[in-house]
Amino acid sequence: MSQDHSQKKYVTSGNNCVNETVLLALGANLPSSFGPPDVTICLAAQEFADAGLSDITMSRLFRTPAFPPGSGPDYVNAAVCGKTCLTPARLLVSLQALENRFGRERGHRWGARTLDIDILAIGERVLPDLDTFRHWLNLPGSDQMQVVPDDLILPHPRLQSRGFVLVPLADVAPDWHHPVLGQSVTEMLAGLPEADRADIKPLANP
Ligand code: ATP
Ligand code: CA
Ligand code: CA
Repeated sequence: MSQDHSQKKYVTSGNNCVNETVLLALGANLPSSFGPPDVTICLAAQEFADAGLSDITMSRLFRTPAFPPGSGPDYVNAAVCGKTCLTPARLLVSLQALENRFGRERGHRWGARTLDIDILAIGERVLPDLDTFRHWLNLPGSDQMQVVPDDLILPHPRLQSRGFVLVPLADVAPDWHHPVLGQSVTEMLAGLPEADRADIKPLANP
């Protein structure tokens, strides 16, 4: 299958609900039954309208080293900006169903996977509340690997430290401001070590 890795825009018809902006991070480092990670991500993007998103813009695809280092094959990562009328909880369920459709198996934390879709942000929401968000934001690295939140945490509590999230996100939402940290995507990206940014390479167009 020929893949177009340039920026894509899928536009769906609107309705009368109050649309909120949604930012997503996509990652894959194992083949799914549909193909290798880049194919899985492009096919998943085509399902976002059915999953409850509209006005969808997708970043370029990037190849990034597995995280934690040495934990598996390189990842393909991308980011998506869209709109939704779904509640945050319903959006999470809808996106997890999409992960499952593309063969996601939930093994050990941060293990290799066919498709991971994280909700980075829904507008300026801080969920479930500021204290809980700060708890996850400040969790030591060793605990982050062991403990999985039961609640949806927004913004995603690790987005500001991940080059593989911020580089694609800068394609689609460079001016989004983190509602707690106060920085834009561009500013958070500039705050990362140069070596982290250099690891994130755009996939060549075929
Ligand atoms: P990380 O969150 O560090 O990127 P991960 O994506 O590997 O790790 P998962 O195993 O995919 O973690 O998700 C674990 C749980 O995290 C999910 O079942 C979900 O309920 C919860 N969760 C909390 N906040 C979010 C969020 N913003 N986006 C997606 N899932 C979230
Ligand atoms: Ca993730
Ligand atoms: Ca996830």
